[in-house]
Amino acid sequence: MPETLDRLLAESRDRLKSAGIEGAAVDVRHLVSGLLGLTLAGLMARGGEPVSPEDAVRIRAAIERRAAREPVYRILGEREFHGLTFKLSKETLEPRPDTETLVDCLIPHVRRIAVRKGSCRLIDLGTGTGAICLALLASVLDARGLGTDISEDALATARENAERNSLAERFATLRSDWFEAVEGRFDVIVSNPPYIRSIVVGELEPEVRYHDPAAALDGGNDGLDAYRTIAQHAGRHLEADGVVGLEIGFDQKQAVTALFRAQGFRLLESATDLGGNDRVLIFEQDVK
Ligand code: GLN
Repeated sequence: MPETLDRLLAESRDRLKSAGIEGAAVDVRHLVSGLLGLTLAGLMARGGEPVSPEDAVRIRAAIERRAAREPVYRILGEREFHGLTFKLSKETLEPRPDTETLVDCLIPHVRRIAVRKGSCRLIDLGTGTGAICLALLASVLDARGLGTDISEDALATARENAERNSLAERFATLRSDWFEAVEGRFDVIVSNPPYIRSIVVGELEPEVRYHDPAAALDGGNDGLDAYRTIAQHAGRHLEADGVVGLEIGFDQKQAVTALFRAQGFRLLESATDLGGNDRVLIFEQDVK
């Protein structure tokens, strides 16, 4: 008798619980529905049906990876962000729901500029999967984006994500260490740079510490290295009426605002994430 999906789901839950995974039941549902190409509702509806031996092998292998603290979406190889699907690779940060707040805050600015000028030119520094830039392009048709990254692997992943979301015509990539290889001015500068203090990176949960790239997390001794560099050069690459939108660590609002103020920027707007932490800052140039 082949086993039913329900039995395999129960076994998987027990396996993850015994491995100490919090939210074992939710992880099992996401993993198994992803592996079988089903929606969560579809998965629930098929509980009584038999699982093929091949699927059972694939599911058990994925559950073992999760038991070893690999994140669900790394195992599946892709993750949804702002309604689009993004392929992940080893040199890209997994897009987080909190970062959708940055996209939501920037959409009105991108739209306003696109309406006024006929188009809006964005640059996403340290684009990784391309999630932020591509989500903005998907939301505003008259926008074009340049995604930069120091990692060629990340840029290849971002280009693939642009293709799979039908945004490649409006998206370009450039290998650059922040602004180093960037020329010209942009209407919107956006970044979710590494902002964790070096000393804290080693204490992050295993899912982040071993599976997100350190280069996307480690912001130096005080976590502010990337902001310092971006603040220093942003003025030369921003159109007079443009905005800079940044994701920040929960305790960095004052420090990052001070860095940008010192370079002639004014805090236009800030926002909190789903957990109520300061997460997004939007700056404009003070002297126009
Ligand atoms: N929000 C990420 C984390 O909690 C950090 C991302 C970043 O440094 N930009 O792991």
